[in-house]
Amino acid sequence: MCRHLGWLGRPRTLASLVLEPPSSLLVQSWAPRRQRYGTVNADGWGVGFYPVDPAPGRPMPARWRSARPLWGDPSFASVAPVLRSGCVVAAVRSATAGMPLEESAAAPFTDGRALLSHNGRVDRAVLPAARDTESTVDSALLAALVFARGLDALGATVAEVGAADPAARLNLLAADGTRLLATTWGDTLSVLVTDEGTALASEPWDDDPAWRDVPDRTLVEVTPDGLTLTPIGELPA
Ligand code: GLN
Repeated sequence: MCRHLGWLGRPRTLASLVLEPPSSLLVQSWAPRRQRYGTVNADGWGVGFYPVDPAPGRPMPARWRSARPLWGDPSFASVAPVLRSGCVVAAVRSATAGMPLEESAAAPFTDGRALLSHNGRVDRAVLPAARDTESTVDSALLAALVFARGLDALGATVAEVGAADPAARLNLLAADGTRLLATTWGDTLSVLVTDEGTALASEPWDDDPAWRDVPDRTLVEVTPDGLTLTPIGELPA
């Protein structure tokens, strides 16, 4: 994915996160302001969110994904103002050369309660062959590895994959319904902490001076108790 965002906090509409801000993911899909790789994000998009009132016995996130650009999804635009969540991961995609163009290649990927988005690229040869991945896109294979290792090992997994492929870019964004986890490894990420909650985004969705840039090679954890930034090099091996 080339631009992603996450929200943890008071439930809010998906429209207020994805469509309405002046530099929302919708706008970033044709006019990103800080993108280093690629110019438009028109190769699909997706959003995963944890329902405010989940069905009994079904704590999994709901997803809406498409192989079309976000601006070409009027049905989503019609429901987004009434879908609310307090834990969201969304992304717009600029496909890496040679990767499949299909809905199942669009983040967020999921496994059980977890969601994961990948902004970057990685040589699939350094990833373990995984059966049952959603797509053959590099990001889906990486997601399978992250899910197999567990979200608590996210920083260690990124360090390991980054060592195996020094050209990899590994900005990941994950959620489990109660927290967000993210890494910076080769691309941009910003954080906005407000009284309502915390947003992580590849680039700010507006010009609020409260947005802060996350340094490269950092593990970010957002819980209801606050925000923690840890240099990935300082994580226990
Ligand atoms: N490599 C991933 C893909 O092809 C993500 C691309 C990106 O971040 N621009 O979908």
